[in-house]
Amino acid sequence: MATRRWAWLTGALAGGSLAWILRPHFAPGALILVVGAVMLFATLIGELILALTLLRSTPRVVPPADAQPADGRVDLLEMTGAIGEPNQRDLRFSSFRALRPIENGPPPERLASGSTPPLLGRITLISLFAGRDHRPWSDDEIAQAHAALFRAGAWIEREAIRWKAPVNVTLSDTYFVVDGDDDGGANDVEMTFEPEGDGVGPLEARAVTKALTDMSRAALRLGFRDAVDWMEQVRSRIDADSLVWLLHPRRAGRSLAIPLDLTELAGVSLAVCYARESSFPEPLSRSPFTDPVTIVHELLHLFGASDKYGVPLRSYPPRSVSSRDIMRLNEFGLSQLRIDRQTAWEIGWDVREEGPLIPPRD
Ligand SMILES: [Zn+2]
Repeated sequence: MATRRWAWLTGALAGGSLAWILRPHFAPGALILVVGAVMLFATLIGELILALTLLRSTPRVVPPADAQPADGRVDLLEMTGAIGEPNQRDLRFSSFRALRPIENGPPPERLASGSTPPLLGRITLISLFAGRDHRPWSDDEIAQAHAALFRAGAWIEREAIRWKAPVNVTLSDTYFVVDGDDDGGANDVEMTFEPEGDGVGPLEARAVTKALTDMSRAALRLGFRDAVDWMEQVRSRIDADSLVWLLHPRRAGRSLAIPLDLTELAGVSLAVCYARESSFPEPLSRSPFTDPVTIVHELLHLFGASDKYGVPLRSYPPRSVSSRDIMRLNEFGLSQLRIDRQTAWEIGWDVREEGPLIPPRD
């Protein structure tokens, strides 16, 4: 919080100078009072500026023209011309096999690159299930992961209703699978420490590069030229404002998001959601568990939300972040979590009016 630090610094300097000037006229005790009062005043001004910038900010972004109000429902969206093999556990979804050419269809558009988009309009989630350690994802496990995506999507819509944000989440009816004949470089895992709030946390070195390499490798195996070609072709067959790519490695590890402004491959943005959360990458010792909290948390990163754990709540403007904010990860279940004002603002929602909490349905 740069503003707060500046307020303290300015207050200390102003108080100190004033005390120096008034030195001949006052007793030392009175001088300390002067310094204290000036510092307090400067801090209050700083807090006021912070609170005003957040509360008074008009909507940062304009929603897509045809955006509909959130309805709390997550529907399936057809990938036009996709040929797939139905999932044996959940026949609504199919595993990708090929793309049928579209007659007289427009050529695929270039992927957007640069800054993160707002979480507004029609958002479609697309998954790549990557096997690991010689174990592919089973239809059953994929169906369970989709159930978690439904829960994650419904939760986002519930919060969108509360903030009156026009958001409609859909799931692609076609998903991608690559088998697990590699170990994801398991034998040469190198760890590094990344800034995390006020401290540092362990992260697999070059995690971003590795995830992008995984995507490129998967693109080749699925018959595309590269990751960009794959994403562009799919983009042109999904009727949505934003696509969210989810990579599900069948391993334990630390989930991460690669938003547009952090990617090393222009336009390729995705969330890596491990089948189990752990600080260090390792083979699964139990069956996969796709956590809807992880899905939502990483997805929000793709739309500009920042982490809010590791820093004291008091460092945020009053009533802008609570311990239940999804980007703080204090609670384990979605029903305990919410999108607080600061996070809502970061993902481009209009934060002038916050609705009451909506009790969860499940
Ligand atoms: Zn995070």
